[in-house]
Amino acid sequence: MAYMALYRKWRPGGFDELVGQEHVSRTLSNAINTGRVGHAYLFAGPRGTGKTSTAKILAKALNCEHGPTPNPCNQCEACQKINSGTSMDVFEIDAASNRGIDEIRDLRETVKFAPAAGRYKVYIIDEVHMLTMEAFNALLKTLEEPPSHVVFILATTEAHKVPATIQSRCQRYDFKRITVADIQGRLQLVADSMGLAYEEEALRLIAVKAEGGMRDALGLLDQCAALSREKLTVEQTQNFLGLIGRAWIEGLVEAVGRHDASQVLHKVAELLQAGKELPQMLSELAMYLRSLLVFKAAGSSGEIDYGSDTREMLAKQAAAFTSQQLMDYIRRVHGALAELKWSPQPRITVESALLELVQGGSTPQPSVGDRGMTVDCGGTGAGLAAPGAERLARLEARIAQLTALVQSGGAASAAAVAPMPAGSKAESQGASEERAVFAAPAVQSADGSAMQAKLLQELHGDAEPAVACVKKCAVLGLSEGQLILGCPTDMIKGLVERIYRKKIEEALQRITGRPVRLLCRVAEVVQTASEPEPDLPDIPPPTDEDSGAVNISELPPQVQSRLQQAADVFGGDFIEPSEED
Ligand SMILES: [Zn+2]
Repeated sequence: MAYMALYRKWRPGGFDELVGQEHVSRTLSNAINTGRVGHAYLFAGPRGTGKTSTAKILAKALNCEHGPTPNPCNQCEACQKINSGTSMDVFEIDAASNRGIDEIRDLRETVKFAPAAGRYKVYIIDEVHMLTMEAFNALLKTLEEPPSHVVFILATTEAHKVPATIQSRCQRYDFKRITVADIQGRLQLVADSMGLAYEEEALRLIAVKAEGGMRDALGLLDQCAALSREKLTVEQTQNFLGLIGRAWIEGLVEAVGRHDASQVLHKVAELLQAGKELPQMLSELAMYLRSLLVFKAAGSSGEIDYGSDTREMLAKQAAAFTSQQLMDYIRRVHGALAELKWSPQPRITVESALLELVQGGSTPQPSVGDRGMTVDCGGTGAGLAAPGAERLARLEARIAQLTALVQSGGAASAAAVAPMPAGSKAESQGASEERAVFAAPAVQSADGSAMQAKLLQELHGDAEPAVACVKKCAVLGLSEGQLILGCPTDMIKGLVERIYRKKIEEALQRITGRPVRLLCRVAEVVQTASEPEPDLPDIPPPTDEDSGAVNISELPPQVQSRLQQAADVFGGDFIEPSEED
């Protein structure tokens, strides 16, 4: 006998075998029992959830020689012909390939003839939303005055594309995604009857991967079964489905919790070496983070996740993070997933996203609000806010640095990109290239934080724009004759170097009593929160009369970028030229 795909072989024979759609099977069974069968149905729902199967069951229920009955026998000639697709009374039309009006015209012609053998002629139109408008109009005519021996079943995955005039003439049934537990139960039944040995967890992975569709689940089981020799194992299934696996993800999250950047990068390298896909890794990571978040909130994990974690493991990892952190992480991981679609260097995109997680997820909170300030170093401190632009600029700068480093073979200049805390530099020299390239983020020491507070105090009063700039930076290093200032963007570095250097160096001299040279570097700025904010009054918000400041985020993007280039070169702020000028 020819091989038959599992999903066809295991198509439900009656309403009682329909998995996960009890609301549909109950209502349809009642309609048949009470003789109140409608003449048109609309079955809406995701793919693989049983719409076509239900349509066939309904056709059998109506035409079974022992019916009409909600439990067709599947033995009589009528049932068997419908099962094999050779019934003269059941017409399956795939609207995806027959979009034309001709098919529907033919249908209108044949509809009026009595059924060949059974009681009803059943028209099943699959993916009905694909019909053209003309075809819909032709169909509408038939739906308005259907002969009593005709039942239409329209199936669609996109019900919103079916015209309201059609919908209003149908009884609508919404098919739900099937739960993981229901799919797993069905897979077990099928595997048992096939004599296939399996690890239960393997079937669960398939059930999760199928995303609520039974047809996909059976298709995957079919392929996994073909691969497995003696027993379908978790490992085989993971490999076949391209899954990363829970153990790896847990290890990654643990390294993130320990702020262990080099371990995180090591794990990414390991993953790529094993030929796994980065998008899959990010989506499993997001799912796991969600599980941790749900566990924190509700004490259990959602079933959509690939892992079947013990509560202890979830509890242990969930305790390492706050809910806010987990939400920030998920947002960042989703951001990286979106970036991957057009990233020329996916690995760098993923690594920089993960390094952000290592630093604690969200952008550290600089004193002047961290949400997307770009240039506010102008005379009035006018906020030229462009949401996300600062973060984007930082990421771009970071990626450019990393690219340059990778190209130049890196280790030598690693320190220039992200100055490391004292001691770690020597230690990393013997380590892998990667570790040297991706040095730890520049963390401001307590000393640096104290010096920054003093500097801000000293600058306050005579140089407010300089204050706003320095607030965004972090003091990364201090010595007798120099101070290293980490600036979050090239633009801020440029402003500090070209415009405020003199004021800052003078202030440093007043603080330390000796000349101090200011060195600026672009670096990921991580300020320590331990130092209290210097007691400075907030910079007053600009008013339209006094500054004429321009909010560049309201300007078209091309203009924004040109203005920012100008600001990069000349510094200063943006104001509207006044009439008198
Ligand atoms: Zn029958």
